[in-house]
Amino acid sequence: MAALCLAAAVVGPAPAGAAGNDRPTVVAAFYPLAEAAQGVGRGLVDVVNLTPPGQGPHDLQLSGRAVQRIEQADMGIYLGSGFQPQVEKAIKKSKPASRRIDVLETVGLLPVDAQLAGTKGKVDGEVLEGDVDPHVWLDPVRMIEMVDAITDFFVRNDPANADTYRANAKQYLASLDGLDAEYRAGLAQCRSRAIVTSHRAFGYLSDSYDLRQIPIAGVSPEVEPDPKTLAAIADEAEKEGVTTIFLETIAPPDLAKTVAREIGADLDLLDPIEGLSRKQLRTGETYASIMRDNLTRLRKGLGCR
Ligand SMILES: [Zn+2]
Repeated sequence: MAALCLAAAVVGPAPAGAAGNDRPTVVAAFYPLAEAAQGVGRGLVDVVNLTPPGQGPHDLQLSGRAVQRIEQADMGIYLGSGFQPQVEKAIKKSKPASRRIDVLETVGLLPVDAQLAGTKGKVDGEVLEGDVDPHVWLDPVRMIEMVDAITDFFVRNDPANADTYRANAKQYLASLDGLDAEYRAGLAQCRSRAIVTSHRAFGYLSDSYDLRQIPIAGVSPEVEPDPKTLAAIADEAEKEGVTTIFLETIAPPDLAKTVAREIGADLDLLDPIEGLSRKQLRTGETYASIMRDNLTRLRKGLGCR
């Protein structure tokens, strides 16, 4: 487990916000972190999500306006080790250590290599410094740990409002605790524990709920497995009793379809919650509601009782 590594200095209340009111502004790197910051900081901070709706967060390119927002913000919440180099750089450059938090330093991390072992899947572009898998938010257990860390972060920066941050956090965490319990119960007894995915984003989820992820290719469009690798994945999927291939919401499904055809499996979607679309935001979807939908699909695909 990575040690909790946060600046320990207690600082005074955050300065008046740049938004024109007296609330501090917080920039959050992408949707799940923005939702967590909003949940914990409700009524006390203004949160800006740096990743626009419908856009992927990996290697996000920042507009000049976004860089400006980062510079003007009082606090920054991000996922480091090269997940979004431009975001990381701008936050580090404009804020002292006490006013920024890298959530990656608050949870146990998994190497990518080990997840690919035995699957013959290839390393794609979604690998952080030190061979680390970035997709920590797709695991409710690690989300809970990150929310705890964000709560401590806000309390340290604004101790006068500690009680409100903690009360907000308690409420937000109740929904995540419920989600964790549903995953635990829902995936306890399944015909198969192997999930074949087109986007290698479910390693942490698999780690917490005793599943095994078999990635097809990773998301980089230029990294396609050769026929031999494809055949090996199909072999392995068949051996694991896999009857459903999980696609990413947006990914081109050609590859997964080929595998599915080869072993006669069904196709379904798993949402990696790398960002919410405008439609999802409009219809009131949240991290928990989408995770719940993913669970329903996992239970169906894995034949869980
Ligand atoms: Zn990803």
